[in-house]
Amino acid sequence: MPVNLLDYDQRGLTDLCASIGEQPFRARQLMRWIHQLGESDFERMTDLAKPLRATLAQLAVVQPPSVMSESTAADGTHKWLLSVGAGNGIETVFIPEVNRGTLCISSQVGCALKCSFCSTGRQGFNRNLTTGEIIGQLWWANRALESMHSSAASGKDRIISNVVMMGMGEPLTNFENVVAALYIMLDDHAYGLSRRRVTVSTAGIVPNIDRLSAACPVALAVSLHAPTDDLRNTLVPINRKYPLKDLMEACRRYVDAAHVDRAAEDEPDLPSRLLTSKSVPAALAHKWKRNGSPRDFVTFEYVMLDGVNDRIEHARQLLALTREVPCKLNLIPFNPFPDSGYRRSPPEQIRAFQETLLAAGLIATVRKTRGEDIDGACGQLAGQVVDRTRRRLRREAEESA
Ligand code: SAH
Repeated sequence: MPVNLLDYDQRGLTDLCASIGEQPFRARQLMRWIHQLGESDFERMTDLAKPLRATLAQLAVVQPPSVMSESTAADGTHKWLLSVGAGNGIETVFIPEVNRGTLCISSQVGCALKCSFCSTGRQGFNRNLTTGEIIGQLWWANRALESMHSSAASGKDRIISNVVMMGMGEPLTNFENVVAALYIMLDDHAYGLSRRRVTVSTAGIVPNIDRLSAACPVALAVSLHAPTDDLRNTLVPINRKYPLKDLMEACRRYVDAAHVDRAAEDEPDLPSRLLTSKSVPAALAHKWKRNGSPRDFVTFEYVMLDGVNDRIEHARQLLALTREVPCKLNLIPFNPFPDSGYRRSPPEQIRAFQETLLAAGLIATVRKTRGEDIDGACGQLAGQVVDRTRRRLRREAEESA
């Protein structure tokens, strides 16, 4: 079986090249061909020696997930359903805005976390995505969008300026594959995104928030959704394992580590925790030291569920909970899906909630709902999941009992 080069970050490609007697610079050339130029045919990689091209053709492929269907919303949001084999499909969403373009990518087929208001959770879970399937979404979307907007292809700006890991799945329970994909996103020989423009969103897998901080401190979003353990246990069941106190401490550590790194960046002689970390590839550590620190706040996501978590009292509890954590609050009007059992909070309730937070000095924004008419909005991504947990079957049995 040939290997898929989309599965390899620069370090992996360097090792692969070494195993066939090639120098490290070949790995960088390959990264550029594959990720910057979107090339999948080794024959067309003209600055590689012919025998190397032939060896690669025998040994390897560049294979992104294939497209099953796609749709465009009235607001320009574009959604792809990508096949990852054995009847499974994942969703990737591109959200164009005036001065940026955000790609929302999936990390798993389905999700194992069962958040009560999320349609991905309802689909059950099949498996983790490979690194190639994660980065393949960006690879694919770049090519597809460039051919859709051929004028932009000639410009220097990439259409996709930001990536958010907010699609299907819980990225921090697919840690290794997600981190390798992040390394490729940040690599200057590949997509060259800055750490501020790449966001990992998690329901709160506390130990892996710390691991992310050491391995690849990109912008962090945490799906909070409730200010107390009692309420959060019902909405985000992983809270029973990692309760709010532990989660808030992890968020604080994440931001504190960013400050340490920023200090190290300002003062080149100071050894940085990051730079001594063996897990960070040298080229990235060098880039981070040179330009750019991660964000120095965490974004808390908070879905607005009518009559459930949207009272002014909840806003006050939120203020108390987050007092020690440098953060911004992003309020997400609930996006409905069939039989969800929830309703979106009315706009005036969302506004009153937001104003309570703002008045106390917390930065709180309301997320604009995008791509709703193609089920492309937050929590609406269902993909096509061959459920191995049989969650759907069990729920249907319970409902009919
Ligand atoms: N598992 C990760 C990544 C998913 S991100 C996480 O939980 O953070 C998707 C975001 O949309 C999360 O904040 C999620 O809680 C939120 N969401 C899920 N269902 C939603 C819905 N129906 N309406 C609005 N937001 C929803």
